[in-house]
Amino acid sequence: MLIDTHCHLDAAEFDADRTEVIERAHRAGVGGIVIPAVCADNFQTVRDLAWSVPGVCYALGIHPLYVDRADAASLAALEDRLSAWRDDPRLVAIGEIGLDFFVPELNTPTLRARQEMFYTRQLDLAQRFDLPVLLHVRRSQDVLLKHLRRRPAIGGIAHAFNGSFQQAGQFLDLGFALGMGGAMTFDRALQIRRLATQLPPTALVLETDAPDMPPAWLGRGADGCPQPARNEPAEVARIADCLASLRSEPRNTVIAQCARNAARVLPRLAAFLSMSNPASDVTKLT
Ligand code: ZN
Repeated sequence: MLIDTHCHLDAAEFDADRTEVIERAHRAGVGGIVIPAVCADNFQTVRDLAWSVPGVCYALGIHPLYVDRADAASLAALEDRLSAWRDDPRLVAIGEIGLDFFVPELNTPTLRARQEMFYTRQLDLAQRFDLPVLLHVRRSQDVLLKHLRRRPAIGGIAHAFNGSFQQAGQFLDLGFALGMGGAMTFDRALQIRRLATQLPPTALVLETDAPDMPPAWLGRGADGCPQPARNEPAEVARIADCLASLRSEPRNTVIAQCARNAARVLPRLAAFLSMSNPASDVTKLT
C-alpha cells in the first residue's frame, strides 16, 4: 500500500479541486495519507478532512514557520484538542513541529529561541499523550536531536530529511524514519539520493509534502511563471518508482517496506489502516 506520510491536503491550493485530487491519489494506489496541521486555526479543518476521506489520518501541531503568529493560547489549544481527541483513531501524531534555521527571517536569536520553546513544549506534549512526532527539519538537525535525546521514547518521522549519514543514524537510533519525497527526484540532489540509496530498508518512508516540493517531472511551472508547480498526493506513486530505481529494488518491495516503516513509527496509523482495510499489507506486515 502506498502511504503519503506527509500531505497538506487542507491547503488552499486544493480548494478548487480537492475531490479530484483525492480521486487521483486513490487511483494511483495511495491507501493512506497523513495530514499534518500547521497552527491552531486548522486543527478542526484537518480533523474534519481526515474524517471525510477513507484512509486519511491527521496530526496536530504548530509548525515552526507559524510560531511568530502563535502564542500561549495556541499551545493551550493544542493541549485541549489532544485531550479531547485522544481516542480518535485518525489522530496519529503531533505535527508538524520542528525548527527552521534556513528561512532568514526566522533565523534571528529571538525567533530561534521562540521556535525552540514551541518545539520543546510540543515534545513534552508528545510524551504526555504518547504520540510520535512529524518533524520539520531545515538546517536544524543537531538542535532537534539534542532535545530528542532527552526524550528518547518519542520517535516519528523526520520529514523531507536532508542531513548527513551521521545525523540520519542518530534519528534512526531515536526511533525515527526519514521522509523521502520530491527533493529526491532531482538528479542534483546528490546527498539525498545517497541517503535514499544507501540507508537500510527500514529507514525510509514515502511522502509528498503536497502542495509543496513538486517532484522533478512537474517542473517549475509554465515558462515565465514564478509560481512553482503544485504537488499532489498521487505523485507519491512516481516518487516510489524513483526510490525503487535508486535502490535497484522492485517497486512493490520498496512500497511494502516503506508502508511497514510508516506503520512502525506511527503505530496509530497502522491500527487505523488495519481497522479500515483489514486486507491491507500493513496489517500483514506489522
Ligand atoms: Zn509540511
